[in-house]
Amino acid sequence: MAHNRVAVVTGGTRGIGRSICEEFQDQDYTIVATYHGSEEQAQRFRDETSIHTWRFDVGDYDVCQKACAEITGTWGPIDILINNAGITRDATIMKMTAKDWDDVIRVNLTSCFNMCKAVFPSMRQRRFGRIINIGSINGQAGQYGQVNYAAAKEGIHGFTKALALEGAKYGITVNAVAPGYVNTEMVRAVPEEVLDKIIAQIPMGRLGRAQDIARAVVFLCDEDADFTTGSTISINGGHHMY
Ligand code: NDP
Repeated sequence: MAHNRVAVVTGGTRGIGRSICEEFQDQDYTIVATYHGSEEQAQRFRDETSIHTWRFDVGDYDVCQKACAEITGTWGPIDILINNAGITRDATIMKMTAKDWDDVIRVNLTSCFNMCKAVFPSMRQRRFGRIINIGSINGQAGQYGQVNYAAAKEGIHGFTKALALEGAKYGITVNAVAPGYVNTEMVRAVPEEVLDKIIAQIPMGRLGRAQDIARAVVFLCDEDADFTTGSTISINGGHHMY
C-alpha cells in the first residue's frame, strides 16, 4: 500500500523514539524526529539515518503550534503523531520538589495536549489521523519514587481514551502503548542492583528492546488498523498484566 504519510515522532532521535523512526523508514513514511536538549545525539541520528529532525520543547504550547505549522509548511500536513518524548525526575514525595513535579507533568503529559492541539484540526479536516501516546507500566502499576511520572503516564492513558472518542467519527484513531522496562538511556540510569531486581520480576527474563515497542506503534499507525482506537497495548514481557 502506498503511504506518503507524514509522521512526527517527538523525542525521536534516541531510545524508543529512534527505533520508531527506523521502523517507519521501512514503511516509506516521511518522518520528522523531534528533540530538545541533545544536539549531539540529533547530529548522530541524522548522520546515521538521514531522517529529518526539528528541535523544540514539547512542553511549551506556543512553540509546539509554531513547530507543527513549520513542519506542515515544509513536508505537508501531519498524518501521524507519536507523543514519545518523556523525562523522569525521580524522588520520594518527601524529597520531590514542585519543579520535579511540574517538569515531568509538562514534558510527559501537557506535551500530548500541546501536540494534539496542533495536529488534530487538520487531521479532522482530512478525515485521517493516527495518534499514539507512549505511556508506561509505571503509570499502570505505580512505582516507588515516581508520583510525578506515574501521574503523568496514567494521565496519558485517560487522555488517549477521551481523545479517541472525539476522533472516531473523523477517521482519527488514538491509542497508547505502555512499555515495560526497555533498555534505553532512561533505564540505564537506574542503579544496577535495582535493575537486577526488576529483571528478576519480568517473566520473559529480560529488558525490552526499543524495537519491541516500535513494532506495535507501526501496527497501530497502519491505514488498516482503523478499528483499533482508545486502546492501550502493554509491552512489558509479562511484568504487569493490566
Ligand atoms: P530517552 O531518555 O532515551 O529519550 C527521551 C527523548 O525525549 C529524547 O529524544 C529527548 O530529547 C526527548 N525529550 C526530552 N525532553 C523533551 C522536551 N522537553 N521536548 C522535546 N523532546 C524532549 O527515553 P526512552 O526512549 O527511554 O523513552 C521514550 C518514551 O517511552 C518516554 O515517554 C518514556 O517515558 C517512555 N517509557 C520508557 C521506558 C523505558 O524503559 N525506557 C518504559 C516506559 C515508558 P533530547 O535527546 O534532545 O534530550
